[in-house]
Amino acid sequence: MFKISHCPVCSGAEFKGYLTCKDYTVSQKEFEIVQCKSCDFVFTDPRPENTDLGEYYKSDAYISHSDSSAGIVNKLYKIARSFTLKSKYALVKSFAEQKGLLDIGCGTGAFLNYCAHKDLVVDGVEPDEDARKFVQNNHGILVHEEDQLKKWEAQKFSAITMWHVLEHVPDLNERIQELKNLLDNNGRLFVAVPNYTSGDANRYGKYWAAYDVPRHLWHFSPKSIRTLFNKHGFVLERTLPMKLDSFYVSMLSEKYKNGSPRFLSAVWSGLKSNLAAGDDKWSSQIYVFKK
Ligand SMILES: [Zn+2]
Repeated sequence: MFKISHCPVCSGAEFKGYLTCKDYTVSQKEFEIVQCKSCDFVFTDPRPENTDLGEYYKSDAYISHSDSSAGIVNKLYKIARSFTLKSKYALVKSFAEQKGLLDIGCGTGAFLNYCAHKDLVVDGVEPDEDARKFVQNNHGILVHEEDQLKKWEAQKFSAITMWHVLEHVPDLNERIQELKNLLDNNGRLFVAVPNYTSGDANRYGKYWAAYDVPRHLWHFSPKSIRTLFNKHGFVLERTLPMKLDSFYVSMLSEKYKNGSPRFLSAVWSGLKSNLAAGDDKWSSQIYVFKK
């Protein structure tokens, strides 16, 4: 296991216990989440060594169950995904002049493919080899390994997106410097991450599905993400809600807590979370940064 010596946001070295969470999807092991005493940043510590992290991604458990309630979850997930792709594309278009889009952690390439079929020039980066091959074979888009981020010329992209990816990145500061280098001076960076200060996080506590230990190494609040990016010279331009995430996360959290997705409780939880979310207590949020 790897122990973090300094907080990646403020470099503080003193942490206190925050929560103990279980990995419900792969290992069924428990992991500690701690909070930095100086800046309140929250992270999984200790965590598996970087070379072992891949083991914790080997599961198709998320939405692959065949019972009827999970079937509903699966269907809703697909409807939500097509809606989400459209709105993410519209968001990127509303900001960036089109020099090229880079999607980091593109997975099986749904967003890349959607944007390529619209009017964007796209590049993707994805650490998982099977996912890279999938995108190549199914969408005909070449996706790069992570080390390509160090090789591209400076300011190559006018839009860089990381949809629920930053919480998985082992070295935050190094990655943010790479983003800064790759982003055009007039470009925008779009970062979507879960928000542990949301109502649904509060309601489910250690069962909140978006803690997702140990795959989620970092657990961001609106304050910590702003502080972290400010440190690297980024300015937060806008924060947007991801309104469907509270429902999906609540369904998974119900499953972890009670053994079944409990559809109505989850919808009620998602609704309550959204109604009380105000400006920055949404289950997941998109942060738009400029240099
Ligand atoms: Zn700190």
